Amino acid sequence: MLSEIFNGPTLPPDFSLYLHQPTVTDPSLAPPGCESFYVLAPVPHLGSAAVDWQREAAPYADRILAALEAVLPGLRQEIVTQRIFTPIDFRDQLNAYQGSAFSVAPRLSQSAFFRPHNRDPEIPGLYIVGAGTHPGAGVPGVINSAKATARVVLSDLGHSDGEALAS
Ligand SMILES: Cc1cc2nc3c(=O)[nH]c(=O)nc-3n(C[C@H](O)[C@H](O)[C@H](O)COP(=O)(O)OP(=O)(O)OC[C@H]3O[C@@H](n4cnc5c(N)ncnc54)[C@H](O)[C@@H]3O)c2cc1C
Repeated sequence: MLSEIFNGPTLPPDFSLYLHQPTVTDPSLAPPGCESFYVLAPVPHLGSAAVDWQREAAPYADRILAALEAVLPGLRQEIVTQRIFTPIDFRDQLNAYQGSAFSVAPRLSQSAFFRPHNRDPEIPGLYIVGAGTHPGAGVPGVINSAKATARVVLSDLGHSDGEALAS
């Protein structure tokens, strides 16, 4: 399954799923008496697999929902509304390169110090922040990326107390 996520050329047949029910902590995310869920299914980005998402998205989503019925019996009958977000949507709506939801893959040669640095090494005055840069993706990583970028900007502007200001 991991091999298909990273190298394609097809969708993983034996997916691993991350199911989240945000209404447990924030009931305002669904009308009274309803719940909202999202399920994250890792799939290859557009550069590593020629998946026809127009054709594949709905049947793949249905296979995922069928698998979830093992733990949530009758799930599909209860769905009032459903939204499918594919790598095409990550590319077209969020401008994500190759529709990759998590930016560059976190392999050793692209992790932590080896990720693109927050101060561009070639172009003076260009700073980079977010999931694709040092230290990495995920909300904690992105917050730390913002702090690291603020630190180098302040340092370049001559603020000796940049560390404190960026925290
Ligand atoms: C389904 C899913 C579940 C996740 N779950 C978790 C989780 O449980 N915990 C966790 O820590 N992390 C999670 N993550 C990862 C986390 O959401 C990301 O790492 C983080 O949001 C990346 O932040 P960012 O600011 O770098 O980019 P983004 O949050 O993607 O923000 C970039 C923004 O820039 C906009 N943009 C793009 N191009 C332009 C342009 N040219 N001009 C103007 N705006 C532009 C985009 O529309 C977007 O709004 C999840 C990600 C996904 C996809």
